[in-house]
Amino acid sequence: MFEKVLIANRGEIALRILRACHELGVQVVAVHSSADTELKHVRLADESVCIGPPPTAQSYLNIPSIIAAAEVTGADAIHPGYGFLAENADFAERVETSGFVFIGPPASAIQTMGDKVRAIETMKAAGVPTVPGSEGVLGDDMDEIVRLAEDIGLPVIVKAVGGGGGRGMRVAHLSTELPGLIPLTRGEAEAAFGDPRLYMEKFLTHPRHIEIQVLADAHGNAIHLGERDCSMQRRHQKVVEEAPAPGITVEERERIGRLCTNACLEMGYRGAGTFEFLYQDGEFYFIEMNTRLQVEHPVTEMITGLDIVREQLRIAAGEPLGFRQENVTFSGHAIECRINAEHPETFAPSPGEVALWHAPGGPGMRVDSHLYTGYTVPPFYDSLVGKLIAWGGSRTAAIARMRLALDEVVTEGLVTNVPLHQLILASEGFTGGGADIHFLENWLQSGAVSEAPTGS
Ligand code: ADP
Repeated sequence: MFEKVLIANRGEIALRILRACHELGVQVVAVHSSADTELKHVRLADESVCIGPPPTAQSYLNIPSIIAAAEVTGADAIHPGYGFLAENADFAERVETSGFVFIGPPASAIQTMGDKVRAIETMKAAGVPTVPGSEGVLGDDMDEIVRLAEDIGLPVIVKAVGGGGGRGMRVAHLSTELPGLIPLTRGEAEAAFGDPRLYMEKFLTHPRHIEIQVLADAHGNAIHLGERDCSMQRRHQKVVEEAPAPGITVEERERIGRLCTNACLEMGYRGAGTFEFLYQDGEFYFIEMNTRLQVEHPVTEMITGLDIVREQLRIAAGEPLGFRQENVTFSGHAIECRINAEHPETFAPSPGEVALWHAPGGPGMRVDSHLYTGYTVPPFYDSLVGKLIAWGGSRTAAIARMRLALDEVVTEGLVTNVPLHQLILASEGFTGGGADIHFLENWLQSGAVSEAPTGS
């Protein structure tokens, strides 16, 4: 195992990784911007290095500064967390060429999965089901594009090859919209991602977002840890996640899980990863692979009893997976609510000082948060300040625990989306299980949130 790991991230995930390292007796180097000296994990780390001013380009995305911090502190390995540099193949490569271990997949896998068309082609070749669509990148011949859309069947979605975060996509309901829509999306893709290439897929009208967690080691073993349902989304951002996905049968889980682990073996994948699918009318359609730890990994940990970050560290250190597929068992149900420092109705970020913070507790309740009374949430970064994860023997029991937990949260000084979660957990759309990815947004538009309780 490593002696010292540098965590190239901040907030709740840096704290999560620090805990896994310390449990294994691994020392931690925290790197932080000048706005983040008071972060909880910075205080708990064995060493810390300020890597730059608040803007992310000069700190958390500053590759030379992060590598220099690893050199100065004598770290063995770098964990990128999620976001920031986690899916930057250039970073992964520079970490390795500088003599450190990158706690993640090989740079080549990050690169392949970062190019959506190559990712889809790789999955198709490995037998993973994908959304019917264009074979590769769209050309310039508009008549051909229109013909293709009609062959696929309208509506279609036009997507930027270099896109991410739900940006760079447009839906065409009629083929007559395409001549206007294609150049517009191309221009935006060029401006936003520096890559004008587009591809096209059938637009699924009522899919759920279901994803498969995998782990693969460097010794030819790959396993899956089942699925998560992340259909509760707003503007393509996940709000509530759960595992297992309501209504998915053991056979479906085993079938899609095996296709994902086979794909891992075929492409020489290593580390933790997530295959994201849209699921509609009993069929899975691959949309993308995340080559990193995910925000919602705790729901999988809660139902499997495994520690995904610990496995990431072990795999990166060259150890074989400590268990086989048949040793992975699923117990009960887990739900995660993402707590954001934002107004529950307007969704405007609301950084500031935390005058008082009381976290919920009790059996089956996990809180992953870097908040503490007296901490000030800086205005420069993502508004995620914590995650509540409730486990129960059944979905109903997990919902009951999460409701209690939400009622127990006390935040003074900081406005959070806890009231929104209270409404979601009470809505029939959620409690019924199996809502599609449009449910939350439609429900919000129907005015549900204006009835949100106000106050802390
Ligand atoms: P990104 O990398 O930007 O997150 P994805 O390809 O993962 O892009 O798509 C983001 C979201 O867009 C999906 O979670 C889903 O809500 C929607 N989406 C993408 N492809 C389709 C499709 N073919 N049909 C319907 N919705 C889609």
